[in-house]
Amino acid sequence: MAIERIVNSTSEPDDPKDQELENSLRPKDFASYIGQDRIKKNLKLAIEASQKRQEPLDHVLLFGPPGLGKTTMASVIANEMGAQIRITSGPAIERAGDLASLLTNLQDGDILFIDEIHRLHRSVEEVLYSAMEDFKIDIMLGKGPSARSLRLDVPKFTLIGATTRTGALAAPLRDRFGMVHRLEFYSPTEIAEIIKRAASILGTDIHSNAAELLSTRARLTPRIANRLLRRVRDFADVNGDGIIDEPLTTQALQLLEIDELGLDPADRQLLSSIIESYGFNPVGLNTLAALTGDEATTIEDYYEPYLLQIGLLERTPRGRKITHKALKHMGKSIGSQDEQTKLV
Ligand code: ADP
Repeated sequence: MAIERIVNSTSEPDDPKDQELENSLRPKDFASYIGQDRIKKNLKLAIEASQKRQEPLDHVLLFGPPGLGKTTMASVIANEMGAQIRITSGPAIERAGDLASLLTNLQDGDILFIDEIHRLHRSVEEVLYSAMEDFKIDIMLGKGPSARSLRLDVPKFTLIGATTRTGALAAPLRDRFGMVHRLEFYSPTEIAEIIKRAASILGTDIHSNAAELLSTRARLTPRIANRLLRRVRDFADVNGDGIIDEPLTTQALQLLEIDELGLDPADRQLLSSIIESYGFNPVGLNTLAALTGDEATTIEDYYEPYLLQIGLLERTPRGRKITHKALKHMGKSIGSQDEQTKLV
């Protein structure tokens, strides 16, 4: 099953217009970046201190599920530092030489943002260690017995790494980040605020109760909130006078098949398959992937964090387990009379 889902928070919308719109909605500074208050407070302090000492900011690792604002936070940091930012991703840096040329082309104080840093090649990662620590890199010239190693200085940059999973990061890399911040899911109130801000940038009128309704369906994730808003805006343009009110929003959500918890048909299919095939028994990640036809990493990144967050799935040492709340939501029952009475 391909993940062509409105609620999927992949950073690569198929439609380039969607990408353009998404960029226009990106907050530029801490004041317009809603939520994540603890992280903002820490970062503001670190930025102020580094500016006072006229030193580069410590390297920052941001982790958390897709769409929570890691890339946005990196560009906010650059903006607040008055620094230039270079954006790349782990898989895009194929060879150590690619990283060497990226680094040597930076200037003092620049920020290098590496998305999906857990997907860096091992050989590239090793070059990054000394660059992060001493602002020096060793590159090999030539091959075989005549090969020589050359040590080069690189500008005093700040690395901001983003990853959906810190567990996938090698310890020596993780340890070289002076600051490690986990982005949390947003509260519905924060999501409603993000929706209202985005609507005003898009020049769309939205009633407060419509924004509140949408905020409960967006998987507590800004990227999904913005995407839902755009789909509901389309619906309001076609079926109304363009103003987003509550009845229109309800109809649009029905059309998109997004339920009261923000689940779409793919989530419900996943939960149904677990209930029917495994009941309350734990299921391994690879089995889940086989059940849905998705990659295991898709389950880990896109389905699971939210389902765990709202208590529909539970992680156990032996795998993922369905909860009573999930059964109730799906209107299903399992097993013994005992289990069924517990549900009532
Ligand atoms: P990630 O890098 O974690 O996948 P992004 O930084 O690309 O997520 O964020 C996705 C979109 O969500 C951005 O385009 C931005 O419009 C919006 N967004 C993210 N965080 C916030 C926030 N705190 N306040 C307002 N909008 C946000």
